[in-house]
Amino acid sequence: MIFGLAFLGNQVAENPGADETFAMGLGPGEIRMAARLLREARYAWALTGAGVSTASGIPDFRGPQGLWRTHDPEEVSTIDGFHRNPQAFYSFWLWRFQNMRKAQPNPVHKLLAALEARGLLQGVITQNIDGLHQRAGSRRVLEVHGHVRSATCLSCGRKYSMEWVAGEVEREGLARCACGGLVKPDVVLFGEPLTPDFEVAQREVAKADLLFVLGTSLTVWPVAGLVPLALGHGARLIIANAEPTPYDLHSDVLLRGDLVVMSELLARVLEVDLAGS
Ligand code: NAD
Repeated sequence: MIFGLAFLGNQVAENPGADETFAMGLGPGEIRMAARLLREARYAWALTGAGVSTASGIPDFRGPQGLWRTHDPEEVSTIDGFHRNPQAFYSFWLWRFQNMRKAQPNPVHKLLAALEARGLLQGVITQNIDGLHQRAGSRRVLEVHGHVRSATCLSCGRKYSMEWVAGEVEREGLARCACGGLVKPDVVLFGEPLTPDFEVAQREVAKADLLFVLGTSLTVWPVAGLVPLALGHGARLIIANAEPTPYDLHSDVLLRGDLVVMSELLARVLEVDLAGS
């Protein structure tokens, strides 16, 4: 079975160690293989999604406890939904913002920060808006879907802090600028362009020889397109996720399982101290 999959992997044709080019699970072989690819890479980037922050208490979207099982994404995460029913948007976001403010980085964030500090990663491209990569010590973080550090008036462009927005939403159910416009957190909603970081991410991935994907269903475009971009020029691919993704068959190592367990195992093999990082 694994060998059947192996021949669909992107590295098989050019890698003489074909029997080692595809692995799946969290066994010692898979972890050693991932460590080897990280050590061998000259220009590696991580690409993360909501799954890296679930262990910090921030729910993902499409996992078994994902937000889309109880909320309608059309209503609370599209720019049209925001204009149609801003109150529903703000109450959903107030809860998420307060949850994110309490959250602490977990071993997955710490592993990525430590790998960057060791020179094994260039940095992290993240779809997350929670800022936990930076708080764990990652220095180069490309936030392609924005962040919850600030908010902007959609009418006049005035900037506000998220604390101000949260206070307004608690009192009024809405956040309105002095000019009367609605103030929206600086996060990218469906139907909006990505942040300028996405162009940087595309340029960096075009140079990368390894993409380490963690905790994303790889279903949201254009970010998911970074994977075929990497594969297109022969980069290696590690996918670490609890559930299948559309690119699993193209990965060189598939770390299927819990990301915290995976991070602790990988840290041990790479001799990274997660407690001290
Ligand atoms: P996702 O929920 O689609 O996928 C998360 C994946 O992580 C799932 O496949 C899940 O199985 C896995 N996972 C969760 N916890 C895990 C763990 N502990 N160990 C291993 N795997 C784990 O999230 P995504 O891929 O990040 O979604 C794409 C992006 O779409 C989001 O990050 C977000 O930026 C964007 N988005 C934005 C909004 C919005 O409100 N603006 C809404 C939806 C999606």
